[in-house]
Amino acid sequence: MSVEPLETPEFEKLKLPEEGEKIRVVGGKLVVPNEPIIPFIEGDGIGPEIVRLAKKVVDTAVEVAYGGSRRIVWWEIYAGSKAVKKYGELLPKDTLNAIRYAIVAIKGPITTPVGGGYRSLNVAIRQKLDLYANIRPAKYIKGMPAPLKAAEKVDFVIFRENIEDLYAGIEWPYDSPEAKKIREFLKREFGIEIREDSGIGIKPISKFRTQRFVRKALNYAIEKNRRVVTLMHKGNIMKYTEGAFREWGYEVALTEFRDYIVTEDEVKTKYGGVVPEGKILFNDRIADNMLQQIITRPGEYDIIVCPNVNGDYISDEANALIGGIGIAPSANVGDYMAVFEPVHGTAPKYAGKDVANPTAEIRSAALMLDYIGWKEAAKLIESAVEKAISSGRVTQDIARHIPGLKPLKASEYTEVLIKIIKGEIE
Ligand code: NAP
Repeated sequence: MSVEPLETPEFEKLKLPEEGEKIRVVGGKLVVPNEPIIPFIEGDGIGPEIVRLAKKVVDTAVEVAYGGSRRIVWWEIYAGSKAVKKYGELLPKDTLNAIRYAIVAIKGPITTPVGGGYRSLNVAIRQKLDLYANIRPAKYIKGMPAPLKAAEKVDFVIFRENIEDLYAGIEWPYDSPEAKKIREFLKREFGIEIREDSGIGIKPISKFRTQRFVRKALNYAIEKNRRVVTLMHKGNIMKYTEGAFREWGYEVALTEFRDYIVTEDEVKTKYGGVVPEGKILFNDRIADNMLQQIITRPGEYDIIVCPNVNGDYISDEANALIGGIGIAPSANVGDYMAVFEPVHGTAPKYAGKDVANPTAEIRSAALMLDYIGWKEAAKLIESAVEKAISSGRVTQDIARHIPGLKPLKASEYTEVLIKIIKGEIE
């Protein structure tokens, strides 16, 4: 159910920073002070180093953009192995309460230790805070060694539902009493036979959660002047989950956004095949087709809105097509609260070696700045990343695909970004 922001601090071990103020929600809008308190989770593996580098880049961009009149007051909070040391648990209540209090947070990737009691800590954070929209932009950057021929046409924003679907984690092993009970119930009540050696998983997709999610995607499309919103579903087969997702999505679009959108049918029958100026094309694609369409016709897609599992697959595909997971940012957004994180994981083999690409973390921080309305600082970061990559100043994960290119260490690459932002180099 919906999780509200916290007005007053409620922490067991955490101490609020002595400076800075909290971001507030007033009249349905974020009110951001000049010195907002922003919690960060360093995470595991390469997490601490990339988060540290991202904070440096953010501090520089904010300083340059606002000439010292704004700054972020960083506040460390804990999840994963550091949390186990401090609290004896992976995801302390303090951490969730800190995000509820501060509204906006950023994190590095976290390992979920096997047998740790959580399917995934990342999924737990998204679900416990009801951060229902996972937003993953995938836009080609010139200079990236991309496997897709027409990579320059890729400019997608993937909206992945974060709470429902098979990711809700409602499943039982084949030999559990619960799975046995469910098999017996289905046989007794509906005459449905399921083999005794079958595990059981449940795929819930609800009208309320689908509609708030599609609404968020449409509002985003309007705010960001995007051209197309496509629902990706497997509704021809899973009729009452993914099929319903499609149906409820169209219902929101046609009732609440009628003035902004046109359907594919309307474009054909009323507008001679051309989307009218200023309107957003709202359409849908079956999942398997969608996965190939972004390769064969990348220029026709823009915002892709999907249930959880489809979103997981297509966002990795989209990022692979344009050259890499090391640069892919993401946002997990609820009604107001938001946690920003790279798409990739902890890449443990690179931990502590100053070689992991910090770009995904840095671009996640840029999404965060954009979310709090500090758009000038966000743009400075995005533009510096584009300049560095397109001129071959990159880390090893990118350099190794470009013959003759010498890679920069992660810290050297970050210094390049900082100098570009300060205007010291091009
Ligand atoms: P991963 O950490 O994303 O790493 C897989 C591979 O991707 C790496 O070996 C490396 O490829 C490349 N890579 C990822 N990030 C990179 C970066 N910043 N710079 C350069 N290369 C990068 O995925 P994984 O090995 O499947 O997962 C490791 C752990 O991370 C697991 O415990 C998993 O649960 C966790 N995880 C956390 C999150 C999250 O916190 N949101 C997300 C995904 C996974 P090469 O080997 O080809 O160089």
